[in-house]
Amino acid sequence: MRFQIECNRLLNSQTCLTCHKQFDLQEARLIICDDEGQCCGDVCPECIAKGAKWIDSRLPKFNQKLSA
Ligand SMILES: [Zn+2]
Repeated sequence: MRFQIECNRLLNSQTCLTCHKQFDLQEARLIICDDEGQCCGDVCPECIAKGAKWIDSRLPKFNQKLSA
């Protein structure tokens, strides 16, 4: 699981990957990627503020679906 900061050019709404709320994308967006670099989704600023560990604990376990 990786966290990636990207500069956002298209300001639109996204659904947060961890709390599932709709939020407006900020200029800097946090994107969750799996270990292969596949983009899994965006995380809202409220969840970002709770920290990486909290986000990680809320995420579905993408890694396990391959090995399960
Ligand atoms: Zn959120």
